[in-house]
Amino acid sequence: MVLKLLNDLISINSSSVEGANSAVSFCGNWLGENGLPVSFFENNGYTMLVSEIGSGDFTLVLNGHVDVVAATPGQFIPFERDGKIYGRGSADMKAGIAAMMAALARLNGRDLGIKVQLQIVSDEEIGGFNCTGFLVENGYRGDFAICGEPTGLGIANQAKGVLRGDILVTGKPAHGSRPWEGVNAIEKAYGIYREILNLPFAGESSDYYEKPSINLAKINADGAYNVVPAQCKMGFDIRYLPSQDKEEIIQQISGVEGVQFFPGMISNPVNTDRSHPLLQILGEIVQRHTGREADYFGQHGSADTVFFAKYGIPAIEFGPAGGNWHGDEEYVEIESVLAFQNILVELASSDRLAELKKSN
Ligand SMILES: [Zn+2]
Repeated sequence: MVLKLLNDLISINSSSVEGANSAVSFCGNWLGENGLPVSFFENNGYTMLVSEIGSGDFTLVLNGHVDVVAATPGQFIPFERDGKIYGRGSADMKAGIAAMMAALARLNGRDLGIKVQLQIVSDEEIGGFNCTGFLVENGYRGDFAICGEPTGLGIANQAKGVLRGDILVTGKPAHGSRPWEGVNAIEKAYGIYREILNLPFAGESSDYYEKPSINLAKINADGAYNVVPAQCKMGFDIRYLPSQDKEEIIQQISGVEGVQFFPGMISNPVNTDRSHPLLQILGEIVQRHTGREADYFGQHGSADTVFFAKYGIPAIEFGPAGGNWHGDEEYVEIESVLAFQNILVELASSDRLAELKKSN
């Protein structure tokens, strides 16, 4: 059931808004045909759905995105080789979606003692604001959220925060033949970049992370060959540690001499307590299925977990094993998809989960 569903999902080219919306419709039809309740929502042209079963005080959210990054037409024709299913979105994250849908169908009608709420969204790859952001804002938060991103059945209970921004550096223009009479803004900017790499925040580490990441993403100093550049703008994408304070980072950067810093997009980190009782239960189930101790770790990038974290809802990324997502030859390991589905079913049916209290 789950593999047929996965193949059907990969066949839908969901790299465009229309394509992703029709993938959500496909999921809604499938859920409906399998006797599950489905509510569709639309926001800014993006379709999403919620399907909730069970009853009780505690709501477990299963969240997944059907949208994928662009690919060649051939990547939308799934094929199986050596225990893997290849195709765009196989790992990121149509396998996660297929397993969550199949798990929900299996759980339907059982006396769980909790609610399980499946959320299927269509805009994670462009930030998630239109779908998961929208759902969470409108109260679809639950008490614990699992985003089924590919983690190799590891439990990612942290994710770095995002701080993007521009630095404007001012020099002094002069004729290009007499550069010593001016101050070259590009050279100055490069010196500032080196200084930023040596700021205290850049050297900090934590349990999961060696250091934050600092990507000098853009540099721009429009000008002419015969002019010493008077202005230079640098664009940064900084991924900071869950233990760090973004205001403190902004202060440190702004404190560098010659820097005018304009923060842009900011997204908070995810820092779900590893000792959360659900993670203990999940860890034991994972170990039973994989035969090894569950691996807890932190993601460098961010996912829709951030929207739950924003409201203090514990959230993790947890899903099947795969590789090459966003690249060529994306694949997911079939065994891990089946295991992921079984783990979700066991987790949702655990008596110990039913005893958990609402988190808010
Ligand atoms: Zn993803």
